[in-house]
Amino acid sequence: MPPPAITFHNLCQFPAPVPDLESALHRWESSMDYDIAIIGAGPAGLSFALSLRDSGLKVAIIEKQPADTLQAPAYDGREIALTHLSQKLMHAHGSWQRLGDGNIHPLMAASVLNGRSDYRLHFDAPANIKGPLGYLVSNQNIRRAIFAEFAASEAATLLDNTNVQHVRTDASGGYITLDNGTTLSASLVIAADTRFSATRNQMGIASDYNDYGRSALLCVMEHEQPHHHTALECFFYGGTLAVLPLDEYRCSVVITVNSAQVSELLQMSEEAFNNEVAQRLGNRLGSMKQCGERYHYPLVGVHARKFYGERFALVGDAAVGMHPVTAHGFNLGLSGQDLLASEIMKACKNQRPFWDTQVLAAYQQQHMPNARVLYHGTNTVVGLFTDDRLPARLLRTAVLRISNHLPPLKQAIRHKLMSEQHPRLRVF
Ligand SMILES: Cc1cc2nc3c(=O)[nH]c(=O)nc-3n(C[C@H](O)[C@H](O)[C@H](O)COP(=O)(O)OP(=O)(O)OC[C@H]3O[C@@H](n4cnc5c(N)ncnc54)[C@H](O)[C@@H]3O)c2cc1C
Repeated sequence: MPPPAITFHNLCQFPAPVPDLESALHRWESSMDYDIAIIGAGPAGLSFALSLRDSGLKVAIIEKQPADTLQAPAYDGREIALTHLSQKLMHAHGSWQRLGDGNIHPLMAASVLNGRSDYRLHFDAPANIKGPLGYLVSNQNIRRAIFAEFAASEAATLLDNTNVQHVRTDASGGYITLDNGTTLSASLVIAADTRFSATRNQMGIASDYNDYGRSALLCVMEHEQPHHHTALECFFYGGTLAVLPLDEYRCSVVITVNSAQVSELLQMSEEAFNNEVAQRLGNRLGSMKQCGERYHYPLVGVHARKFYGERFALVGDAAVGMHPVTAHGFNLGLSGQDLLASEIMKACKNQRPFWDTQVLAAYQQQHMPNARVLYHGTNTVVGLFTDDRLPARLLRTAVLRISNHLPPLKQAIRHKLMSEQHPRLRVF
């Protein structure tokens, strides 16, 4: 059988790296079986491979995009708010150090506004802790840095330019059919192939799916007044607007409107768009100027009902794809892959099969309670703050005022952003 079209950017640890392509191809033919096969080299899949790099396991990662695109990903408009735990996990992998200081923007405070009122729910770091609440880094830089670290490591064999067509598992292993007709086998298959995971569907794992009927429009803008590294989440009537602070006079604006209105915003002239944003913001940042393109994403949330099956597990957005308003998606994905990798490493250390159901169940037990709370909590926030009927408007005004005077609630939100530990919620 001819070897699949692969790029040998990374030669896995077993056996030792080979010097030329011919022997590499020979080795490929004689080593069709992997310990772990990861589908999807997005930030979650690559982070998982990096988490396993000292495990001694033979790992493959299959990605439909070419390695060149992974190495130099295009800017996609997303500026990702990262928690301290995410910073710690990326640092432990070595990818944080590859971001470059100029690409990391501190988030010092956050304010939530409702309707046209100037009243705000405000958070900042507690007085006894120096440093930011979190960090803003573009998805482009996150992807670039994680891939650079992956490429420099010997964490896994990358099968790029390769689309997975079919996956099945049974008691003896997992079998992945690639678009070139080859079948690859592995002791454990991991799906990290987006929130629309075809693998999750093929494995018969049901999920709760939420089409919010809205789209997010994203654009980097310059502005007249400084933002003082404070994020704004403005729940206006008829749509929301978030300001994510980058450099002092530059921010990412995220406008969430119903999907029909988004095309109107996309088609506006630059001048009209600048005025529209300044006006929506009540001139809080003075005049606004678009820099770069406008991007848009239809908003869909997904929560898989199980995070594992027989010799199979889900990580990243394939497990939980969040609405971006609470900025948890990738943070949750990073935390989840770390929990799964730790369980696998623990099993290896204890000489137990790492694909065993108990190992995968332990991952779910630790990850799912937190994921559920965040997913459903976010949906509640979205529901309340996008409902413009009078009772909802009154309720959200009350929620902001009560929250501002409830130190334990503010402390809990701060803790979520600033803790370096995985949340430990009770299993139910
Ligand atoms: C507008 C917006 C704003 C966001 N803001 C935040 C934020 O502030 N904070 C935060 O934490 N998160 C945020 N997120 C979420 C974050 O972007 C995602 O959680 C994260 O990118 C998901 O990474 P992933 O690796 O799971 O999936 P992806 O990045 O989707 O990667 C999946 C990979 O799988 C590959 N693939 C798919 N199918 C196949 C196949 N059949 N064969 C081979 N390869 C395949 C794809 O090519 C892709 O490379 C935001 C998301 C959006 C849309």
